[in-house]
Amino acid sequence: MNTARILIVEDEPSIAEVVSLYLRRAGYQVQVAQDGQAALDYLEDSMPDLIVLDLMLPKIDGLSLTRWIRDRGDVPIIMLTARRDESDRIAGLEMGADDYVVKPFSPQELVSRVRAVLRRSQGSAEATAETSLTFNGLMIDPLTRLVTVREREFILTAKEFDMLWLLARHPRQVFTRDQLLENVWGISEYIDPGTVTVHVRRLREKIEADPSNPEHLVTVWGVGYKFEP
Ligand code: CA
Repeated sequence: MNTARILIVEDEPSIAEVVSLYLRRAGYQVQVAQDGQAALDYLEDSMPDLIVLDLMLPKIDGLSLTRWIRDRGDVPIIMLTARRDESDRIAGLEMGADDYVVKPFSPQELVSRVRAVLRRSQGSAEATAETSLTFNGLMIDPLTRLVTVREREFILTAKEFDMLWLLARHPRQVFTRDQLLENVWGISEYIDPGTVTVHVRRLREKIEADPSNPEHLVTVWGVGYKFEP
């Protein structure tokens, strides 16, 4: 499954957190770098599919990063700018940034821009986001929200489905219980982390051949859960 990877470069933790939450919910894999140097360190190892880049950053500023990134390839860049930074914004666009969002922005608007820019750059990323997933006798269909296990159909509750869908879209990626709560239940509600355990148990009873010895919904001791295809 090809999920687009997004690097957020933002030094303000509250903005970084909200943006990552919304992008994760939209199905993307998200990494955060809190300053220009951290972004550089990350980018020297691997290029994401898109970069959300704050222009005002400690250590190395956004424009220098834009120049550095453009010297190495054409990964799409969406700049986050303050209203007063118009000249920086223009400089960024001239250096090859793809789009920008002016702070304060709605996270949903940013998600739409990300989608649009990715669609332009790779076309297929969005088309695959809503197609069903099949793993060795297990079929998960996001449109009907039905799960078929060895030819038998199961009806999942909304949260059970959302959790399975999130895990299965990111095979082998470990999610902590907090991350699952945030992504499936939403950040605004307070919910006991034990809720996740209960939902995992119910899901196992439905999709696993042997719920006490799960093949797909695997516990990572001391961390959380992952989906094993
Ligand atoms: Ca900043």
